[in-house]
Amino acid sequence: LDYSVESGWHSPRIVPYQPITLDPAAKVFHYGQTVFEGLKAYRTEDGRVLLFRPQKNIQRLNKSNERLSIPYLDEEIFIDALQKLIDVDRDWIPSTPGTSLYIRPFIIATQPALGVAPSTQYKFMIIMSPVGAYYANGVNPVKIYVESHYVRAVAGGVGEAKTAGNYAAGLSAQEEAKAKGYEQVLWLDGVHRKYIEEVGSMNVFFKINGTVHTPALNGSILDGITRNSIIHQLKHWNIPVEERTISIEELYEAHEKGMLEEAFGTGTAAVISPIGELNWRGDKLVINNGQTGELSAKLYESLTGIQSGTLPDPFGWMMEV
Ligand code: PMP
Repeated sequence: LDYSVESGWHSPRIVPYQPITLDPAAKVFHYGQTVFEGLKAYRTEDGRVLLFRPQKNIQRLNKSNERLSIPYLDEEIFIDALQKLIDVDRDWIPSTPGTSLYIRPFIIATQPALGVAPSTQYKFMIIMSPVGAYYANGVNPVKIYVESHYVRAVAGGVGEAKTAGNYAAGLSAQEEAKAKGYEQVLWLDGVHRKYIEEVGSMNVFFKINGTVHTPALNGSILDGITRNSIIHQLKHWNIPVEERTISIEELYEAHEKGMLEEAFGTGTAAVISPIGELNWRGDKLVINNGQTGELSAKLYESLTGIQSGTLPDPFGWMMEV
C-alpha cells in the first residue's frame, strides 16, 4: 500500500518479491522514519493456517506509528493484507514441527525531501519467509552479556517503538558481546545503569523463590506479545507473576541466597529462550546449572502447542487465515 496526504492509504497490491526503487532523498534514508512488526503463521497437522494474535501486532504498529509521526493504519487493512498474501503463498508454509512462516510488515517514509519534518508519503509492505525450527536439537540455554557501557533506550525516547534506530543502536554492543563468547546483550536502564530492561530481541523473566518477575513496561522497553502471553499463561496456572522494577544487583543477591531458580527470554523468534549464564562486569552468574528450567520448558511446550494447533487455545489467541 502507498500513503499520500490527499488519498490516505491506497493502492493495495501483491507483486513478486523484487527490489524496489526509492528516491535517494527519501526521508527513511536520512531520518530513520520507519517502523516494523514481526509475527508468524503456523500450519496445523490438518493443514489449516493460524496466525498468533495479529491484532496485537497492528495495535503495536500503530503505537510505533504515533511515536514516529507515521499515519495510523486500520486494523482491517492490516489483517486483510496478511490474509491475501498468505492466500498467495499458502503452499510455502512448512508443516514440519517447529517450522513456520515469518512475516515482516513494515512502513517506510518515502517523500523525497531533506527538511526535518514528517514525510507526506509512505509505503507499507509485508515480506515473508519460511523459517526452520529455532531449536534444531531441543531448547538450549543462552549466555547473555549484561551491557554496562552502551544504553539502548531511555524513557521518553523511542525505546518502546519498534523502529530501526533502536536496533542500529544495539549492533556494536551485540558484536562486542559476541566477541567475548556471549550470544545476546541484556540492556540496563539509561539513567541508573542498574535496572533490567530487555535482551536484544526478547523480554526477560526471572523466577525468584517461586514468583516470576519481569520488568514493568516503563516506556523504554518493547511491549512484547510473547511477554504478554506468558503473563496470561502464568496467571492462568496460578503461578504468581510480578511486573516491576528489577535491579541487576537484586538478581545477583537472589542468586547468592539460592533463590534465583530460572531465567528466560521471550520473543516471536525463540518463543522461550532459557538463560543459562549472565556476565555483569566480569562477574559470572550461572543459573539453574546452565540447564533449561522446569517452568521454562513447560511454558515453551504450552505456547508452541497452542501456536501449532496441537494443544487447545484457551485464550482465543489463534486466528485462522
Ligand atoms: N524486545 C525487542 C527489542 C524485540 O525486538 C522483540 C521482538 N519483537 C521483543 C522484545 C519480543 O517481542 P515479541 O514477543 O512481540 O516478539
